[in-house]
Amino acid sequence: MSDCLFCRIVRGELPSDKVFENESLLAFRDINPIAPVHILVIPKKHLTSLAAAGREDGALLGEMLLVLRDLAEKNGVSESGYRVVTNIGADGAQQVNHLHFHLLGGRKLQARPE
Ligand code: 5GP
Ligand code: ZN
Repeated sequence: MSDCLFCRIVRGELPSDKVFENESLLAFRDINPIAPVHILVIPKKHLTSLAAAGREDGALLGEMLLVLRDLAEKNGVSESGYRVVTNIGADGAQQVNHLHFHLLGGRKLQARPE
């Protein structure tokens, strides 16, 4: 059993503010939001980051992007705009080592994020 934080959320061992779930994906609100809309989309399967994904994960990754797009619509930021980002490894400042995409919106974001 993985003691990875997001695997524990997937298994329901830790609470989360879920906004979407299907067979392969889970989306929930970030516990420490940096924008009015700050949602994390994760695969239920443990992948450490995008760097750990293989060609066989292509459909899963594509589905993640479409779910992010749909969540942007549902959360009212489609027209105002939003950002999708995934951090990878140490220089990418990844804190949780389970692949996740951030959906950020609801305020004007910096044009060139660090
Ligand atoms: P990273 O820097 O790895 O891309 O981002 C990890 C994100 O996960 C951070 O934005 C952080 O606030 C969020 N996070 C960390 N622990 C938890 C948690 O237990 N629950 C939720 N909902 N978000 C978390
Ligand atoms: Zn995990």
